[in-house]
Amino acid sequence: MLEDSFGRRFHYLRLSITEACNFRCQYCLPDGYDGPPNSAFLNINEIDTLLTAFAQMGTSKVRITGGEPSLRRDFSDIIALAANTSGIERVVATTHGARLASEAKGWADAGLQQVNVSIDSLDPNQFALITGQNKLTQILKGLEVAVAAGIDVKVNTVMLQDFSQNRLARFLDWLKTTPITLRFIELMETGAHHNFFSSQHMSGLPLREKLIAEGWTLLKRRQDAGPAQEFSHPDYAGNIGLIMPYSKDFCETCNRLRIAANGKLHLCLFSEQGLDLRHYLSSGDVEGVKQFVTESLGSKHISHYLQQGSTGATQHLAMLGG
Ligand code: SAM
Repeated sequence: MLEDSFGRRFHYLRLSITEACNFRCQYCLPDGYDGPPNSAFLNINEIDTLLTAFAQMGTSKVRITGGEPSLRRDFSDIIALAANTSGIERVVATTHGARLASEAKGWADAGLQQVNVSIDSLDPNQFALITGQNKLTQILKGLEVAVAAGIDVKVNTVMLQDFSQNRLARFLDWLKTTPITLRFIELMETGAHHNFFSSQHMSGLPLREKLIAEGWTLLKRRQDAGPAQEFSHPDYAGNIGLIMPYSKDFCETCNRLRIAANGKLHLCLFSEQGLDLRHYLSSGDVEGVKQFVTESLGSKHISHYLQQGSTGATQHLAMLGG
């Protein structure tokens, strides 16, 4: 099992398969994607080598992310590859959800167990304003198709000052009858968006206090869980998660490593740089990958240092996935 010098163990891999995205979220790619084509990113053979190596080092959960992973034509093949890799028990993905309605069944058949879908507002106009895409209705339909296909669904919502009014009431209303987990994510500062961050960041702590005051109770964290604190309430079909990267000790429970679509290992979402292991991947060198990752892990820091405004090499999260 991979372990760093602070005793944290890593059984969760976040694999970005593309930097490209066709949404223009204000906090990520407000001017749209203008980078390399999908052919520049890890191909399926390289991904095979990567997953085999990580599984042999104890990885049991893989999140496929991006950019927008569903923009890759071989997305289903990559899901199936991960699901069929010995040792990988859980395959999940993060998506904007616009292709769920047509593709969820196929992804489920390929082995996808969970999707995290980004929905920043349940008001169609607000949604379009934040994401640059008028696709809320299509995405909500997609959630139903995903649930019917047997996929666990979680929804991600980034908390933004400008849109904080009215949103919560609508989401809470929705959760009364919708059996999904809705996760509120604190906006994180990235290299390309310092000013946006300063004007839009809001702490999740007041929301946490409000939920507890209204009878929501904190659930026990699963070993392979992500960073969310999850709450349930007897009057609601859905749960609420809070992801507060600026809270004290957030990094203590870090259990994940990241591979960027260009084949670089990122020890943290906000590392100073990615560590290039693509030559091992393109030559199919599983042992080389294992040695490289094990040795690199020694330089993982105890914290992301985001509180000090250090955003590392991450210009926006489409580079690496959230
Ligand atoms: N395209 C996919 C999607 O829309 O979910 C996956 C990639 S997206 C970068 C992954 C997640 O990161 C989304 O839930 C998005 O809302 C979140 N995200 C992007 N930039 C963020 C930021 N600066 N702070 C917090 N969350 C962010």
